[in-house]
Amino acid sequence: MKSNIKLNNTYTLTIQDMGHSGEGIGRINNFTIFVDKSVIGDKVEVKIIALKKNYGMGKVIKYIEHSPYRTTPKCSIASQCGGCQIQNIQYEKQLELKKKIVKDNLERIGGLSDIKVHDVIGMEEPFRYRNKGQFPIGYKNKEIQLGFYMTKSHEIVPCDACQIQHETSDVILQKIKAIIKKHNITIYNEKTGKGNLRHIITKVAYATEEMMLILVTNGKELPNKEAFIHDIIKEMPFITSLIQNINTKKSNVILGPKNITLYGKPTITDKIKDIAFNISPQSFYQVNPIQTEKLYEKALEYANLTGEETVFDLYCGIGTITLFLAQKAKKVIGVEIVQEAVKDAQKNAKQNQIDNVEFHAGKAEDIVPKLYKQGAQADVVVVDPPRKGCDEILLSTIADMQPNSIVYISCNPSTLARDLKYLSKKGYKTQEVQPVDMFPHTMHVEAVTLLTK
Ligand code: SAH
Repeated sequence: MKSNIKLNNTYTLTIQDMGHSGEGIGRINNFTIFVDKSVIGDKVEVKIIALKKNYGMGKVIKYIEHSPYRTTPKCSIASQCGGCQIQNIQYEKQLELKKKIVKDNLERIGGLSDIKVHDVIGMEEPFRYRNKGQFPIGYKNKEIQLGFYMTKSHEIVPCDACQIQHETSDVILQKIKAIIKKHNITIYNEKTGKGNLRHIITKVAYATEEMMLILVTNGKELPNKEAFIHDIIKEMPFITSLIQNINTKKSNVILGPKNITLYGKPTITDKIKDIAFNISPQSFYQVNPIQTEKLYEKALEYANLTGEETVFDLYCGIGTITLFLAQKAKKVIGVEIVQEAVKDAQKNAKQNQIDNVEFHAGKAEDIVPKLYKQGAQADVVVVDPPRKGCDEILLSTIADMQPNSIVYISCNPSTLARDLKYLSKKGYKTQEVQPVDMFPHTMHVEAVTLLTK
């Protein structure tokens, strides 16, 4: 009951849950209080610093008891950096939390209460797993700042070793600032829109150790270009693709539309199982290669193919899942919005000598209804949308196509639950859900779901 709770008063509560951004959630007389800098199991004294109709915010005044689930983070900036929100929670507990998030969303948003949600498939060694790093760059007290944004802010926490990234990205973080300084490359200022270098992006192919370094700049010009490139490659000879990406827009979108290859190849090549994939700067590629294999294996198992099926792989990126499905299906049709990714997908199919696939560039919600009108059929449909989930037009077209099963890969349990609810009204029953931990130490949750007609 809110009426008993007063702004600025202090209360004692136990943290029972974790919110989206890794904040603790406790209750006072059943009224929800969000508490920053607390973890599940903490007993804390909080001062109420905000009070809304349905919830309040508490600031920790005193830790009365530390949670038994707490652990010391490996990373010294874990409490400031917006990347790892829950590195201070034991890994086993993180997995339990993620399973509960999936279950809660299915129940609360999807109205699906008796669905089998399996234990989360975790990592044996949940560090150094990421193949992609995006590092904002700024200027403070006449020093270049390179690292990560703080939670809910654009202030940069400097970082020269990230415990969840591949080790080579540390080398770049440690060496690049001096090279930027030596060649007088200016640093972009978000407020004024002036200055050149905006972001540094690293992409590593774990299987081949090829590495792409992307320099996102505010304009085409790079003063001392030749000498700058020369020094980067001399200091970091493991770079196989050095790319300049031009982004002149004043926005939070990191990449601009144009890429220039400054050195090496325009793509890197990675391998998942026995299939090789070319990855362009603009293309999406799963960030955790070890878990990706487990995720795709599950998706394939759920697709349950015999070799006779026509399959749709929607939101297909560079055709990763498409090509695995193709090895077991009659034909697979991939749909993806990013043109560059579709080109990668076509090249990947060709290079791996897989020819029972076709790719379409465009929005799934535009392309699939069009193909359906032209008479396309599907026995199995796989979808792997971004966080906002699937468009309703797409879901209704899928239901009209009457596939035997739908495999839904999701990185956002709330939109997953919403879409499963919609599909259940259209006659598709959710059979089981398998969460896979693609993002240890963060609150992000990935899950594969099987639906059948
Ligand atoms: N299945 C792929 C990619 C999944 S990420 C893999 O496992 O690698 C989601 C993909 O959906 C991204 O490649 C993104 O570019 C694409 N996408 C986003 N909105 C889309 C839309 N409306 N229609 C088709 N693709 C879309």
